[in-house]
Amino acid sequence: MFSSIGPSRPDPIMSLMEQYLADDCPHKVNLGIGLYYDGEGTLPLLNSVHEAQQRLMTQERPHSYPPIEGQAQFREAVQRLIFGHSAQQTALTTLQTLGGSGALRLGAELLRQLGVCRIHLPDPTWPNHLAIFSVAGLTPESYPWYDNANGELLIDALLDRLATLPEGSVVLLHPACHNPTGMDPSPDQWRSILDTVERRRLLPFFDAAYQGFGAGIEQDIAPVRQALERGLPFLLSHSLSKNMALYGQRVGSLSLHCPDVAAINVLGTLKGLVRSSYSCPPTFGSDIAATVLNDAALHQCWRDETEAMRLRILAMRQRLATELNANGAGLDIGRITRQRGMFSYTGLSEQQVDTLRQDFSIYLVNPGRICVPGLTERNVDYVAASIASVTR
Ligand code: PMP
Repeated sequence: MFSSIGPSRPDPIMSLMEQYLADDCPHKVNLGIGLYYDGEGTLPLLNSVHEAQQRLMTQERPHSYPPIEGQAQFREAVQRLIFGHSAQQTALTTLQTLGGSGALRLGAELLRQLGVCRIHLPDPTWPNHLAIFSVAGLTPESYPWYDNANGELLIDALLDRLATLPEGSVVLLHPACHNPTGMDPSPDQWRSILDTVERRRLLPFFDAAYQGFGAGIEQDIAPVRQALERGLPFLLSHSLSKNMALYGQRVGSLSLHCPDVAAINVLGTLKGLVRSSYSCPPTFGSDIAATVLNDAALHQCWRDETEAMRLRILAMRQRLATELNANGAGLDIGRITRQRGMFSYTGLSEQQVDTLRQDFSIYLVNPGRICVPGLTERNVDYVAASIASVTR
């Protein structure tokens, strides 16, 4: 029965993590997996999240089923976080999902139901985009994003490609903190992208997994708000995995702006898709998120904590660049401080990445992507000196 199932290829990022854990070198450094670590190199439990968690625990509520679309207090709070004052739009609907990944998958299934066959992804993009959309039955195609040789956004090539796509084409866009390159368009470049999307009547599928880690909570979601203000239809997957450090709780949402149909109909279709796959979302993580977002003091505390995480990442970027310069690294160092968010495409070659892992126990994802919050005051000098020694 199952004899046709051959061995599957392990996920490269997860297997790198396994190699890192098995490494007994005392000064090993994990710059692989996309987790935010604090200055001590540990995964944080945010104070806002901890307080919300404590409050929920004391309520001793029974574990009922939530609505298929998630609890209203979660959905409304997330809508306000994403869309700000424009969240009241009737053409907008938001549904709780199993993290950002679950939102992408659900959105993909909706698109398949609507007869969409393809999705256009930036080159490069988060590798799981390819897997999620392919398994859901969409053919991934790529559009230019980043020139790794020069460390530049390929804005002209990207606009040219978007301009040639047929009307109705679905285009995945990272609103901020592009994974894996860290290379984001400027506000002017975003305006040009949205102009093209509007003129060519393309359908954006925004993927916001790092709100608050780029330029700030409000700034990082600006392209989505601009699409809403322009009245454009779009999908948006949104994750609270990183900015609330709720990874394993699987807290995310899928929002749809559909100016041409009743949002309630779209919500009905999405609920049908959820019901037939996992029935309804889990509740503890989303209750934590709703408690944080709906309480003024906890909300502010979370914003401050997110800002502190953003500033730590920025400080580590600057520190790495300074140390690389001081060590005379043979690398285009400027790109590290031009990039934003958790990741940086350093320009290191696959061979240099392998040497860093084998000879220095420093773990990076190929081709040359580092997860910046893996850097701390304790390891940044070692990392910079090691990178310098493999690039000289
Ligand atoms: N989109 C991007 C670009 C991501 O980097 C990630 C997480 N690595 C996700 C979506 C998925 O987020 P989650 O862990 O909430 O499923």
